[in-house]
Amino acid sequence: MFKALVVEKDEESGKTSASVKELSRGDLPDGEVTVAVDYSTVNYKDGLCLGSGGGLVRKWPHVPGIDFAGVVEESSDDRYKPGDKVVLTGWRVGEAHWGGYSQKARVKADWLVPLPDGLDTRAAMAVGTAGLTAMLAVMALEDHGLEPGHGPVLVTGAAGGVGSVATAILANLGHEVAAVTGRPEQESYLRGLGATEIVPREELTEVTKKPLESERWSGCVDAVAGVMLGRVLKQMKYGSSVAAIGLAGGAAIDGALITPFILRGVNLLGIDSVMQPYANRVRAWDRIAADLPMAKLEEMIQPAGLSDLPQLGRDILKGQVKGRVVVDVNA
Ligand code: NDP
Repeated sequence: MFKALVVEKDEESGKTSASVKELSRGDLPDGEVTVAVDYSTVNYKDGLCLGSGGGLVRKWPHVPGIDFAGVVEESSDDRYKPGDKVVLTGWRVGEAHWGGYSQKARVKADWLVPLPDGLDTRAAMAVGTAGLTAMLAVMALEDHGLEPGHGPVLVTGAAGGVGSVATAILANLGHEVAAVTGRPEQESYLRGLGATEIVPREELTEVTKKPLESERWSGCVDAVAGVMLGRVLKQMKYGSSVAAIGLAGGAAIDGALITPFILRGVNLLGIDSVMQPYANRVRAWDRIAADLPMAKLEEMIQPAGLSDLPQLGRDILKGQVKGRVVVDVNA
């Protein structure tokens, strides 16, 4: 027997409820690799899947948790053997498939990545999908020419999961980092991660009709979209790039004009972590092990257990989670 956080749906009322339950190995889905999960985390999508499902979950009872790290227990795939440390992000695990809010998980071997040296399972989930996405964004900006010394790089939604990790990685690589936040009380946290400038969210929440604004940013990791991305595009330096990773402020790009693209050669780079090819995942995890200072990662961690998840799910949907929640599923 083992414990898992299970979401059930009442067919009559359509309401869902989440609670910790005892399950047996026979409850696990089919898959090639069984993992003893050590840690999981809380992402925006987890907030949806812990509640109504947000259109992501199709079948109940459901075990959410879009990412996890643990140790292989059994494997019918040659690439993995018992004792290997692994991490899983994406592939709709925790949405369409049972996820990581469980002491055991069974998944396809193709979905796993071996943990690089220098990262243990706790650190891997302090990074999680959010941190992997932040690194994919930084790699995309670098692949499009970003180098330290080009000027400040903007990070929006900076006190959130992706934003916190992006801030720490960029600062550690030697970039000046300007952090946009709607939570002024997080200034010292963001400066601790390496931000050199704090940009209040209100500076970027009004649509302007101007075709362009003064050139300010040499790159941007944007977790917010909405009005903010429309404004930021007009403030990008000539030939620079924005890595768009999220939609915390809305799914549209409000007030965006074509001018930054055709007059300044600005690039808008889409970042997806869910279906990211294996080779790039391995590259990103290796870069995380090399370029994310573990002491900074420690500052972002908010510890939790399985029973804390229903509340944390509600909190993240309201933008009230700071940094990275690390869920010890065995606590
Ligand atoms: P968090 O909730 O941890 O962070 C989002 C942050 O955005 C908040 O902390 C807040 O930062 C800011 N924010 C929230 N609401 C608004 C608003 N209305 N206007 C402006 N800013 C706002 O989420 P994550 O960092 O985990 O994820 C961020 C986004 O990225 C989400 O939309 C998520 O779905 C997406 N995502 C995409 C992935 C991909 O593969 N592309 C992978 C992972 C996440 P502050 O308080 O500092 O202002």
